[in-house]
Amino acid sequence: MTKILMTTPLVEMDGDEMTRILWQKIKDKLILPYVDLKTEYYDLGLEKRDETNDQITVDSANATLKYGVAVKCATITPNAQRVEEYSLKEMWKSPNGTIRAILDGTVFRAPIVVKGIAPCVRNWKKPIAIARHAYGDVYKNTEFAVPCAGKAELCFTDANGNETKQLIHEFNGSGIIQGLHNTDESITSFARSCFQYALSEKQDLWFSTKDTISKVYDHRFKDIFADLYEAEFKEAFEAAGIEYFYTLIDDAVARVIRSDGGFIWALKNYDGDVMSDMIATAFGSLAMMTSVLVSPGGQYEYEAAHGTVTRHYYKHLKGEETSTNPVATIFAWSGALRKRGELDGLSELGVYADKLEAATLKTIEDGKMTKDLVMLFEGEATGLTSDGFLDAIADTLAAM
Ligand code: NAP
Ligand code: MG
Repeated sequence: MTKILMTTPLVEMDGDEMTRILWQKIKDKLILPYVDLKTEYYDLGLEKRDETNDQITVDSANATLKYGVAVKCATITPNAQRVEEYSLKEMWKSPNGTIRAILDGTVFRAPIVVKGIAPCVRNWKKPIAIARHAYGDVYKNTEFAVPCAGKAELCFTDANGNETKQLIHEFNGSGIIQGLHNTDESITSFARSCFQYALSEKQDLWFSTKDTISKVYDHRFKDIFADLYEAEFKEAFEAAGIEYFYTLIDDAVARVIRSDGGFIWALKNYDGDVMSDMIATAFGSLAMMTSVLVSPGGQYEYEAAHGTVTRHYYKHLKGEETSTNPVATIFAWSGALRKRGELDGLSELGVYADKLEAATLKTIEDGKMTKDLVMLFEGEATGLTSDGFLDAIADTLAAM
């Protein structure tokens, strides 16, 4: 069989622990037999990040800006314990944070839906993707406790020293106070990423805030989305047969529950944090959640939503068998290869990506899966080892 040729390399970001082990196996068993894989390889494993003073992470993000598509393995975000475990020179920052800062993107998370694992919400037939704004609001707040009676004011001073002041509250006794902000620039790039992702997925985009109560703050989000849509995306949406629709968050929550899925739900930072956990849990499991960072410049970085599965890695190091779910990581690869194929006009790469996903889902539907899925599965299910499950997918794929 001749392998599928690629023209532009994928940016490959290798990672840590159990997911690093799965990474190599996925390539060996599922990709390399079919694709003449072309990647520009960056080792984001913690040792290499330490050795290069984290320059490798910056380089990998810049390569993504250059080539347009990356696939990333889960990585350790060091804490004090990891600094000791790996004798690190420094407590390096989260690679995802560094990459996001360079690509200036929005993270989209979508569940992988498989027959036999029913969402808690019976009418959900298609996945619901969450687009979470990743800057500002309560995540960059200033807050303190008010100790006694007094006057709280909001004050802005411009470059010429002109002050704008507004009363927040006259306290009769002790209480609490909080200041939030966002910037038009960040909201605009969030909106642009959402519109681009909706076009790329050919799915409707919903956006919701609490603009009836927050008539300036949340209303600004609503206005920026509406203006950008009118100015730059309306025609493309109409041509693609998809819809942009804004509604109050209360109404959105009710509609999401009653819907059959198959759309993208854009949310402010806090709303997206809470709702993405709710959606992931209601659809089944974190190990079945994909994640893609889309930059306003149209670059894509695909990954699994889960971490490096440390507990399983320590078992692996002791020589014990593991049963670690590779599905989200496989879908990161298929997503990246499909996007590469789309950008380079290589339809066979897209066909291969579709088959890889279909083979993965069919293997589960045939009752073969890792142990985390066995308890969720309705029907006869066998819990396989990490290797056993990958081999079963490889067999299904070969048969296809
Ligand atoms: P985690 O790696 O997602 O694992 C938490 C637990 O969830 C696991 O112990 C396992 O439960 C279950 N799980 C997650 N993924 C699974 C899979 N693919 N198959 C089977 N079970 C799975 O989160 P964590 O333990 O909090 O974090 C570990 C490391 O990952 C940390 O160093 C963190 O910094 C890093 N992290 C990286 C990313 C990223 O790169 N995007 C994201 C999150 C965390 P059981 O043990 O019960 O089987
Ligand atoms: Mg959360």
